[in-house]
Amino acid sequence: MRALRSGLLARRSWVCMQCRSASTKPAAASHNKSGLPNFPARTRFAPSPTGYLHLGSLRTALFNYLLAKRTGGQFLLRIEDTDQARTIPGAEQRLYDDLNWAGLHWDEGPVVGGAFGPYKQSERTNIYRKHTHDLIHDGHAYRCFCSKERLDTLARHRSESGLAPGYDRTCTELSADESEERAAKGGSHVVRLKVDKYPDYKDLVYGTTGKNRSKKLDLLEGADILGRVYDDPILLKSDGHPTYHLANVVDDHLMEISHVIRGTEWMSSTPMHVALYNAFGWTPPNFAHVPLLVEPTGEKLSKRNRDIDLAHFRDKQGIFAASLLNFSALLGWSHTGKSDIFSLEELEKIFTLKITRGNTVVAFEKLWFLQKAHAQRFAAQERPEFNDMVTAVSKEVEATVAAEPLSQILQSRSLSDLVTPLLKADAKSYTTASEFVARNSTFFSTSIDRPEYTPVSSTPIPISSLHTAAAALTLVPNAHWAIATHKFNISSYDGASALQAESENVDIPIPDEKSRIAADKAFKKELYHYLRWALSAGAPGPGIPETMVILGRDESVRRLTEGMKLTRDVKARSPVAERLVREKEREKAKAKSEGEGPLTGGKEKDLSWMGSLAPKE
Ligand code: GLU
Repeated sequence: MRALRSGLLARRSWVCMQCRSASTKPAAASHNKSGLPNFPARTRFAPSPTGYLHLGSLRTALFNYLLAKRTGGQFLLRIEDTDQARTIPGAEQRLYDDLNWAGLHWDEGPVVGGAFGPYKQSERTNIYRKHTHDLIHDGHAYRCFCSKERLDTLARHRSESGLAPGYDRTCTELSADESEERAAKGGSHVVRLKVDKYPDYKDLVYGTTGKNRSKKLDLLEGADILGRVYDDPILLKSDGHPTYHLANVVDDHLMEISHVIRGTEWMSSTPMHVALYNAFGWTPPNFAHVPLLVEPTGEKLSKRNRDIDLAHFRDKQGIFAASLLNFSALLGWSHTGKSDIFSLEELEKIFTLKITRGNTVVAFEKLWFLQKAHAQRFAAQERPEFNDMVTAVSKEVEATVAAEPLSQILQSRSLSDLVTPLLKADAKSYTTASEFVARNSTFFSTSIDRPEYTPVSSTPIPISSLHTAAAALTLVPNAHWAIATHKFNISSYDGASALQAESENVDIPIPDEKSRIAADKAFKKELYHYLRWALSAGAPGPGIPETMVILGRDESVRRLTEGMKLTRDVKARSPVAERLVREKEREKAKAKSEGEGPLTGGKEKDLSWMGSLAPKE
């Protein structure tokens, strides 16, 4: 062991930390304007198994993954389990499962292995000890034997005097031999980094930054215990295990990490990390700190509010991995694309380090927008995720819908034969399986609860003309019962003539082309409205031709017939139209009593009820 150490030490020549710091090349120089390095990046995601993956940590993992993929580098996973006391049983496995679910597969790390392992810090304790000894030997670190009581007293006095906490470096007065000897005899100690000044560093997001927490003299006359204090962070704990800071720096160096992307909560530790790199004589990696996620109120997104773990989004809300990744990617990252909808593969091609500074407000409405967008893509591209949607909706139907009326709609079809075209037709509205089933409930039951029919068109459209059109649609035989057929039949249905034909007792001249088009438009508008009311109680959802195909011929005909019966007595359409019809009837009666033919000789023929079909003067 000693021989190994002296061998290693022989290659190292002592350089003071400040000189090392000064000689460190500005790492950001090799990056373009978008922050992309001109070399393949080696990045890592370094979670602690003290919790589960949540939105913030998923975003960190994603950005690291994307930078590696964009630059043709590698993405590593490292488990930072130095804090064994806080480790949650099962959390490590959950991290693997969650990352795999999200599609963030690591190139090196636990399970998959790699040339720089082990990738779990608890299996690397000897590495950290060796490096700590190197630092002690070089004079950059020292053993501190101060008892907890002494440190507590020091801290208490400093706090009572309103001073920042710190250590007074008592143990630096021990000679190297004394220190070795006390340690060899089992004297309880920690190892501290000797640091006089924290260096600034260049952050790829925040620019040159640092805290220069220079703890020089905090001298208070006559109070020795409040004398000189320093930050001198602990590297090795008294149990011989490393602190997060030591393990993190040693590993990032040994694993040849080129970029550390992590949350701004670590920004205050970074100067200390850079000091540690300097002490080792290593070039620090590039740092890119990503902003904090906050609620629209400005409050930090946390477990307490909505930074809930990934399982919540996946299992409780049924969010797709693609939607959640897309949503995470947009949290603080800006792009020049036309739309915000990206798959992971697309993100891999366009990712940059154009990350905004300042807190990122998380608006969950966007997540649902993206969910619908990805659902639509899955359906259009027949992706495997689309099958998952079919399965989820089918399960929801089985769990919530009465079997008997459903079987009437299904007839010889399986449930997925019904759900698949329905999802294809209405994927753009898909959020969750249960919302989808609720929204499209009329497709799963024969008893549909229609509100009273209320016309929409301001042009009065006789209900009989709608009945005739609906009946015409049902003439299509089963073999031709297809979306294209219905689309064609509806669009080629001559609404203007239909209106004309239904206007009994009215001698209407052939209207000009413009009014024919207007009349057709008004008729179609009312027809769509009527068909939707008859077929699905007016619920939003798939288009009419799609609805007729999904329901099947029998059920469509049944509903249209039912609709006709229910509206047989609907005479007129709007209150205005009602009034006009009454006026027309009064005029008719008057003309009759005066011996004139209906609406032929009277001067004041009011044909405005015919809307655009009324003859022009
Ligand atoms: N183990 C740290 C965490 O849990 C990693 C911080 C870093 O990425 O350096 O977030």
